[in-house]
Amino acid sequence: MAAGAASDTLRFDGRVAIVTGAGGGLGRSYAILLAERGAKVLVNDLGGSLGGKGGSTRPAQAVVDEITAAGGTAAANFDSVEDGAKIVQAAVDLWGKVDILINNAGILRDVSFHKMSDADWEAVYRVHLRGTFAVTRAAWPLMREQGYGRVVMASSAAGLYGNFGQANYAAMKMAMVGLANTLAIEGARRNIAVNVVCPVASSRMTETVLPDELLSSLRADLVAPIVAYLCHESCADNGAVVECGGGWAGKLRRQRAKGVFFPAAQNPGAKGFEMEDVARAWKTICSYEDADYPETNQDVFGVIMEHVEAARASK
Ligand code: NAD
Repeated sequence: MAAGAASDTLRFDGRVAIVTGAGGGLGRSYAILLAERGAKVLVNDLGGSLGGKGGSTRPAQAVVDEITAAGGTAAANFDSVEDGAKIVQAAVDLWGKVDILINNAGILRDVSFHKMSDADWEAVYRVHLRGTFAVTRAAWPLMREQGYGRVVMASSAAGLYGNFGQANYAAMKMAMVGLANTLAIEGARRNIAVNVVCPVASSRMTETVLPDELLSSLRADLVAPIVAYLCHESCADNGAVVECGGGWAGKLRRQRAKGVFFPAAQNPGAKGFEMEDVARAWKTICSYEDADYPETNQDVFGVIMEHVEAARASK
């Protein structure tokens, strides 16, 4: 059955989407799928090299041509994400609003940390973190005002777990998770959901590191349905981190050890506890037996206060 015909088909008719870095790779797949499902899509890409040098209007324009040839609605934008306000203004000038934002633009300056220059750090910071901030900040008041928004951050396993030679990239990708965590809280009351995707796909970013035989199994369009779902009004998740690739997707959560409380810490006037007490308890501090799954900042404060208050009450 054609997309749009089934009653449970998820569509984006009437929605305006911005996809940054959509001139190729994953962003292109996101833009194509959103447009195929009825969204008007601003295809942003400055068309630079993988390292973030130069620029060209060709990649973004080619994606727009592809979308319009297929009957969809799209327009190209060639600003850097560092000029986020210009990108958002372009969408507003064309279509009057922004409902969906996928912060996808990215570059790489891979080098081991001891050889990393200020320029390598700064360039990656400016595109990934500063760029995400700039575009999101410009879209945010519009989303708040209209009481609707769907934002997806393109993070990376490199940020969640670390990856040799990617200290700059990993730091910015993890910072995007922190940004999403707080925006999810701040946006919730205005029906703005902010989620994170950590994709794995063949693109110019990965074609030199992934084996050839894997590249065809990890097409970018196998990530697009997951990201598009996170952009849909029916997706109730907010603040989720989803890993995906090759047609697989799974949501992450945090796990915390039950931990150890040192009651002497709350003895009035006592020294509390010593490093040696920590050393003796370390195995238990790190044991995930009876672990729990904290979801909010309050869950951290809560467990501390539980122990502190119980110790006080026992005095
Ligand atoms: P890609 O290089 O094909 O796409 C990135 C796009 O961003 C490029 O078209 C580039 O021109 C554009 N861009 C770069 N700087 C820009 C700027 N300042 N303003 C506007 N556009 C800019 O790579 P991709 O693999 O499709 O990556 C897309 C996103 O997914 C990136 O954020 C990347 O870090 C992330 N990611 C990709 C993978 C993967 O396996 N491919 C894994 C983890 C995370």
